[in-house]
Amino acid sequence: MRFKLRDKLFIGGGWTPGRSGRTFEVVNPSTEEVLAAVPRGTPEDVDDAVRAAETAFGIWRRLQPEGRGRSLYGVARSLEARLEEFARLETLDTGKPLGHARGEISSCVRYFDYYAGVADKIHGETIPLGPDYLNYTVREPIGVTAHIVPWNAPLNMVCRSLAPALAAGNTAVIKPAEQTPLTALLFAEVFDALDFPAGVYNVVTGFGAEAGKALSEHPRIGSITFTGSVETGRAIIRASAEHVKPVVLELGGKSPQIVFADSDLDRAASEVVKGIYSNTGQYCDAGSRLLVEESISEPLVDKVVRHAREITLGQGIENPDMGPLVSAEHFDRVMGYVEAGQNEGANLIMGGRASEFEKGYFVSPTVFDGVSSEMSIAREEIFGPVLSVLPFSGEEEAAGIANDSNYGLAAGIFTSDIDRAMRFARDIQAGYVMVNEYFTGGPGSPFGGYKQSGIGRERGLMALQNYTQVKNVVIRVGRSSPGADAEHIERTADPGAN
Ligand code: NAP
Ligand code: MG
Repeated sequence: MRFKLRDKLFIGGGWTPGRSGRTFEVVNPSTEEVLAAVPRGTPEDVDDAVRAAETAFGIWRRLQPEGRGRSLYGVARSLEARLEEFARLETLDTGKPLGHARGEISSCVRYFDYYAGVADKIHGETIPLGPDYLNYTVREPIGVTAHIVPWNAPLNMVCRSLAPALAAGNTAVIKPAEQTPLTALLFAEVFDALDFPAGVYNVVTGFGAEAGKALSEHPRIGSITFTGSVETGRAIIRASAEHVKPVVLELGGKSPQIVFADSDLDRAASEVVKGIYSNTGQYCDAGSRLLVEESISEPLVDKVVRHAREITLGQGIENPDMGPLVSAEHFDRVMGYVEAGQNEGANLIMGGRASEFEKGYFVSPTVFDGVSSEMSIAREEIFGPVLSVLPFSGEEEAAGIANDSNYGLAAGIFTSDIDRAMRFARDIQAGYVMVNEYFTGGPGSPFGGYKQSGIGRERGLMALQNYTQVKNVVIRVGRSSPGADAEHIERTADPGAN
């Protein structure tokens, strides 16, 4: 299948090389081949994009909500019709297996379908103040929303926040990750072909410290949605402080998968393997800590290792079970943890560098056991195919280990005891808890982290809070007898509210 590579910025409905004319290369991590050179966006490009989005906001927000919904359905159908093309491009750019890329693009379609249906259902409330008042709220769009996204699921991370933002009447400027900008650019074709007002969807490719920073600091954006690392998340909060902009932060994790002796071990083992090795461990909610009840530690780890050994590695486009890591830099980082784990005294059962590949950033499914909570491989997000096994005895200890983390994104629990599952769901400090199946849920399920895993929630109806602001309007109903007014005001005015 052939597809066009888009290698210009998309601003105000047109393609542009950007003001500096400088570019940077995008690499296929499976082969180390250069796929394209895309513009290295500058603060001036970001300013152009924000202004275009601001102009478009004046039009887009005034459309009938139902019409906005129809436009979003249009996006879903176009993307669905071009699913294979987008999936292939995502695979080349990220290295992920083609089957996974298809799944992620299908999920993009679902985000647009979901929020298309929501566009005409974003309504306020009336609040009783007695018969002489009408007191109501409306939920208004915020304006230009900034979306700064990571490389692990590039278009999916765009669509997760873009679809609700557009449904609510906002416009958007996207800053894709420098490693993986291609599908966000190609996506602009969809908006272009559907006759969206120019400037509803803008993409500025470039580096975090330039384009990303300029976008997060721009005085005319209305909000920032950031998905990425904790460290950059802190920089985003600082940037947002200057102009007091709301932020949504979807950050990292060190999510536990907790397996009890009473669970179906075969099933638990295959879920654990899926939970850590999908996307080469590069999902924020990857289940990177396996907490296993001591009495079944040996048989469970055996099963996990057996499954992990069956995982095929290869170029994403050949649709293996697992592709490479996203970049040379990230490969070094992950290998640094494999070394650190050994130095800290953990036992490397399998994995490490996949030496059978001459090109590409391949790491084999890796398992460490004998891991304790203070080791870096138990505490820090590796964002690679590295599973750390920690034994526990008893529920209390399991919960203690699970919660002993700066992160709190997701948790998986495997047990056949419903009461135990309920107790864990109650006691675990994580924004997303899954019982007996990992990576379960969908566009309607709110997603986000406790502790340093983030601020706010994406997905579901909750995400609309990120892209709307509430206006309260209080209307005094005029009285027919003027004399009664003074007494009434005295009774109801609330100076404390100011
Ligand atoms: P990252 O380095 O924080 O980068 C994320 C985005 O921020 C990229 O577009 C990056 O641009 C940009 N950026 C970097 N510095 C910036 C700055 N000073 N100001 C504004 N923007 C800046 O994260 P990553 O390494 O790409 O992604 C991996 C992380 O994302 C992991 O921690 C993972 O857990 C997290 N993640 C979280 C979720 C979730 O939903 N919670 C989902 C996916 C990933 P450049 O590409 O040019 O650096
Ligand atoms: Mg790439």
